[in-house]
Amino acid sequence: MDAMPRPGFDPLAAVRAATNDGEDGGCDLLLTGTVFQDIIFTGLDHGPEPGTEVWSQGMGTCPGGVANQAIAAARLGLRTSLAAAFGDDGYGDFNWRILETQEHVDLSLSRRFEGWHSPVTVSMCVDHDRSMVTHGHPAPMSASELIGEPPKALAAVADLGEEPEPWMLAARKAGVKLFGDAGWDPTGEWSPRRLEQLSNFHAFMPNQREAMAFTGMDNPWSALYALADRVPVAVVTLGAQGAMAVDSETGEEEWVPSLPVTAYDPTGAGDCFGAAFVVGSLAGWPLGDRLRFANLCASLAVQEVGGSLAAPGWGDIADWWH
Ligand code: ADP
Repeated sequence: MDAMPRPGFDPLAAVRAATNDGEDGGCDLLLTGTVFQDIIFTGLDHGPEPGTEVWSQGMGTCPGGVANQAIAAARLGLRTSLAAAFGDDGYGDFNWRILETQEHVDLSLSRRFEGWHSPVTVSMCVDHDRSMVTHGHPAPMSASELIGEPPKALAAVADLGEEPEPWMLAARKAGVKLFGDAGWDPTGEWSPRRLEQLSNFHAFMPNQREAMAFTGMDNPWSALYALADRVPVAVVTLGAQGAMAVDSETGEEEWVPSLPVTAYDPTGAGDCFGAAFVVGSLAGWPLGDRLRFANLCASLAVQEVGGSLAAPGWGDIADWWH
């Protein structure tokens, strides 16, 4: 890295200048998905037993689901555009306002849906573990229906499905760098069809549980190499053990341990990691710097209670990033 980033530092200024996409309404990162209402209880001694009540030491309410990554990306200076379904209720109002007004995420591709309630996740954090209760119905519109013609973007994050969504293929054709999230239930069946979809992506960033379920491997290292056969940049996050990655285009392989922090709230850690990894990738950093930066951002986020709103900005990172 040439210079230490400062608060307000824009790592993508040079990239935007080179692609001449700064002034014409394009974005750096296009995200799709559903915005959940997250309600997070932290510092529980133990989870609730049937018929009992437990008190938590801390609590947060914040936008969740795809909003985790949108907020993390916007705080790192990415001009972030979100195509998401929002509920037609108080949670939808709350989340729309936070994303648009407070976090400066562009919501021109998002929609409120009359009669559709915001999905809700209640998380209970006991030490490093988290139990979740989620309720919600599928979003009324797919990402492709919301987006139509994809906007000009440097990168997009998409779930790895059985089939690529039309917006993704159009974006890829237009030169958008696609980053993949597991985005599915890793306890489900291993699907060779999903594995084939990896060829559409520049990078794939599952956590170790997802990576092993996805590849059918019994350890994260074998899973990483199985993924690296299919996608130019394979990343596996390891929770409190950090993260590892292989960049087949440059031949780099790296593992970084996470910071020795006390994790109060792991909500959205993987999303924060992913947003930071996108920053480093677009800025053209070496793999080790991309991983260290993403790991630093996610490690800072898990120390704060508050899910998406715990994501760091450049002002929080400057003291740590050398
Ligand atoms: P996900 O949140 O998708 O399940 P992980 O649990 O692997 O993914 O966490 C993603 C990243 O968040 C890790 O690679 C690490 O950088 C950071 N992280 C998660 N848990 C901890 C922890 N207990 N201590 C420090 N960093 C953590």
